[in-house]
Amino acid sequence: MRKSQPFFHIAPRLPVEALPQRWPVSLLGSVRVLICLWITQFIGFAQTSLASPASVSVPAYRPDRILIQPKAGFSLAALADFNAALKIEVLQTFEGIGRLQVLRVPEGETVPGLIAKYQRSGLVEFAEPDFLVQAAATTPNDPKYLDGTLWGLNNIGQNGGKLDADIDAPEAWDVLTSASNIVVAVLDTGVRYTHEDLAANMWVNPNDGGHGFNALTGTNLPNDDNGHGTLIAGILGAVGDNGLGVVGVAWGVQIMALKCLDSAGNGSDSDLITGIDYARTNGASILNSSLDSPAFSQSLSNAIDSARNAGIIFVASCGNGPPSVNVDVTPRYPSCYNIDNIVSVAYSDRNDGLGFLSNYGATNVDLAAPGEQMYSTFFRSNEDYFGGVFLSGTSLAAPFVAGTFALMLAKYPTETHQQIIARVLNATDPLPALAGKCVTGGRLNLRKALSPPISLTAIPVVGGGPFQLHLSGGPNRTCVIEFSTNLSSWSPIFTNITSASGTFDFTEDQPANLAPRFFRAAASP
Ligand code: CA
Ligand code: CA
Repeated sequence: MRKSQPFFHIAPRLPVEALPQRWPVSLLGSVRVLICLWITQFIGFAQTSLASPASVSVPAYRPDRILIQPKAGFSLAALADFNAALKIEVLQTFEGIGRLQVLRVPEGETVPGLIAKYQRSGLVEFAEPDFLVQAAATTPNDPKYLDGTLWGLNNIGQNGGKLDADIDAPEAWDVLTSASNIVVAVLDTGVRYTHEDLAANMWVNPNDGGHGFNALTGTNLPNDDNGHGTLIAGILGAVGDNGLGVVGVAWGVQIMALKCLDSAGNGSDSDLITGIDYARTNGASILNSSLDSPAFSQSLSNAIDSARNAGIIFVASCGNGPPSVNVDVTPRYPSCYNIDNIVSVAYSDRNDGLGFLSNYGATNVDLAAPGEQMYSTFFRSNEDYFGGVFLSGTSLAAPFVAGTFALMLAKYPTETHQQIIARVLNATDPLPALAGKCVTGGRLNLRKALSPPISLTAIPVVGGGPFQLHLSGGPNRTCVIEFSTNLSSWSPIFTNITSASGTFDFTEDQPANLAPRFFRAAASP
């Protein structure tokens, strides 16, 4: 693995996942006076760095520099005099950026102190810290990832797409790349298990050395004679960072191939049931079902229920047109069976729209995932890949979700399938195009699912009551609130585990005449 170079974003340097504490403007009047004074003093930070009206916490910054923007129309000589009086060295002036100046913080001065002096001077539009930036996220070396083909993992607007219309995979891979102990079964046309970018991630049956089961022949040879299943396998779990081809949502995983569909992509419920039963009795935790039928089968429903009772998550594509249909009205199966381990998936496009051919349903479809213009491993040779303009559909979206569940189970091994599913569904990015089209109205976000962002907000104080903070950061998570009086040294003040809904509150019971304090929150390691 290596860190990417070209893309940067502002991010905290510390191993905290937190920060910007957002203080709604409407709350300012009710927050304790001392805190208010400091908030006012630091508005300059917040407005320019975090697009937040007022923040009491800031990401990490250089201790030796600040940035100022001279006020338009003011005499630069006055500013030069002011700089000189403070013994400030101007390191750089950007004439083309409103004469933005980079200043060296003199010996004995602090960044907050110096910023306050410039803000009070009336000579500057703003003064702010020199925030630290870092290379964004973990980047595998697989060529089709690096060239931007795999937009669903990381969309920087390539090929007419929309920036960030993706599952935030590189950010998620900062948290976890592999789920090597998790078995994901692919109910499909089989998998080319000798493929160069899949072989290392194929599950191996300890009894017969096979990689799954062929329900059509009754053998342990589930090779793919259609291509569909091999595409699915590559999206959920092609080997990551091996310098070859593509990368799966999970770089490492155990893919169990279950051939239930023939070379034309057709099959029947009994063969699906054979595959599901094999998965259940051979240690699979997740089933990917990128297939559908208009027929309700009690037998198939019962088979999925038996998988459910074994704690297996069943990811089901909700089907495609033309024409696309509302599956709440015109159900497709298995995605519409009413069993709580089924996660039904629509597909989204590179502009975060609902896929042109995607079915949908406010009740029976849970979320969307990328599924347009895909590219993945293919079945004709061990070096074969396939994709492009016409490779779209919910079949290709489901494995994004199945790969996500593999990483989730690796990260949260003690949680139930209901808890894991709730984490993923609660972490989607809501999109206008998906409102009313699925339960969450959102598109999969792997980063948020794996490691929910932590936020800290002030609770309005009524009638001079104690100062309170509300932390939100995903369920059952140990989080620490820290405080500082100088923005450089931080001390823990409160540690707690978030509730099932992902929050806890903190009441500061210190006397009001203490020095002003700043707060931030982080997940406990
Ligand atoms: Ca992104
Ligand atoms: Ca690869």
